[in-house]
Amino acid sequence: MSPGAPALVETHCHLDLEAYDGDRRETIRRARQAGVAGFVNVGFNLESSERSVALARENGDFWASVGIHPHDAREVGPKALATLRDLGSEPRVVAIGEIGLDYYRDLSPRSDQREAFRRQLRLARELRKPVIIHDRDAHDEVLRILGEEAAGLTVILHCFSGDAVMAARCLEEGYFLALGGAVTFSNGGRAREVARMMPLDRLLLETDSPYLSPDPYRGRRNEPARVALVAEKVAEVKGVDVAVIARETTRTAIRAMGLTGLTAGGPS
Ligand SMILES: [Zn+2]
Ligand SMILES: [Zn+2]
Repeated sequence: MSPGAPALVETHCHLDLEAYDGDRRETIRRARQAGVAGFVNVGFNLESSERSVALARENGDFWASVGIHPHDAREVGPKALATLRDLGSEPRVVAIGEIGLDYYRDLSPRSDQREAFRRQLRLARELRKPVIIHDRDAHDEVLRILGEEAAGLTVILHCFSGDAVMAARCLEEGYFLALGGAVTFSNGGRAREVARMMPLDRLLLETDSPYLSPDPYRGRRNEPARVALVAEKVAEVKGVDVAVIARETTRTAIRAMGLTGLTAGGPS
């Protein structure tokens, strides 16, 4: 990390994907130089969950989340849950996810998605781990199922796509919201409105790399270094110095996910 650069936490990336096979080390190095002091690599099926754990074992500034995305809801049977339970007990696994509902692409039947979501929320309660939620066009049902299954859990809604009214409801429930590249998009007014009203002790930053590259890189492969662009836009929208956004959201990420060994002033 360059001296003086504010430490940021990239709370949601998929650097295990093939898209980085040619330049993974370089991509990680660029992020560190841009101020990223911690990365949470997020699994979306068993294989990527295992790869996320491997990345966290190999890199002192990586943590992992393990879970099965709603696209693969049908995989969430007793065997997969047993594997997730084992992976979820690893010391550097800080969350269960990404789990949730995707009614936009609907790649799995909705009843399967709901069942898979509930089973993994119960696993998170058993393991006492935070959950990272994927919610696409399923706001009401995600909130309803969380209300029924997530008592006592730390809940993080990643790539938050609701409006300010939904954000206020999530704040009331005690949830954390993560914002990414959408705050930079010309049509990202709703995300900026959410950024404006979110208290920093509930706000996390992410890129969802390789997806959702912020402007001016929209449509291209994303990378965690660009979480700095997300931080800058949030700072602009809130009228606050970017160093404050970095320090406070880093503090929030450490608290929400228990990133031991990381401090808001940089890696210890
Ligand atoms: Zn997602
Ligand atoms: Zn993701």
